[in-house]
Amino acid sequence: MPTFLEDEQATEAFGAALTSALSPGLVIWLTGDLGAGKTTLTRGLLRALGHTGSVKSPTYTLMEIYNPGKIMLYHFDFYRFNHPDEFLEAGLEEYFGGDGVCLVEWADKALPHVPQADLEIHMSVEGEGRRARLEARSTKGHECLNRAQF
Ligand code: ADP
Ligand code: MG
Repeated sequence: MPTFLEDEQATEAFGAALTSALSPGLVIWLTGDLGAGKTTLTRGLLRALGHTGSVKSPTYTLMEIYNPGKIMLYHFDFYRFNHPDEFLEAGLEEYFGGDGVCLVEWADKALPHVPQADLEIHMSVEGEGRRARLEARSTKGHECLNRAQF
């Protein structure tokens, strides 16, 4: 389902609405070019979960860990990977398959090691705003979307 997001606030609100789709262990890929709004969406989602601190892009740190309340959230960004094996070298598999929700920017740079998405949110620039396309990629992803309130 495509959604037009006219400004940064609209993208944060879209991220906030996504909290209704979360379930333990969900893997969400955030795809789209640099500056498309992937980290902005993540910020909105984290704020809605109760996180009050800053939300930094994990471009340099590879990942940021958040514990805003009920659910752990792991935010990854593999943009700077030179080789997909860096995913294994950093021991990142351990964060997947547990109860935490994983949000992944530039997942394609960690293929085939990074787990496939349950949900994919593709962001693109459209005029002055952004377009978000949300797709379920697994049975679990479909269940989450059916439960979600948008
Ligand atoms: P990404 O993580 O995809 O590289 P960011 O979320 O870090 O992108 O950055 C998006 C940039 O685009 C920010 O500078 C933000 O202010 C700007 N921007 C303009 N319009 C929007 C919008 N509708 N949604 C999100 N960001 C927007
Ligand atoms: Mg980003």
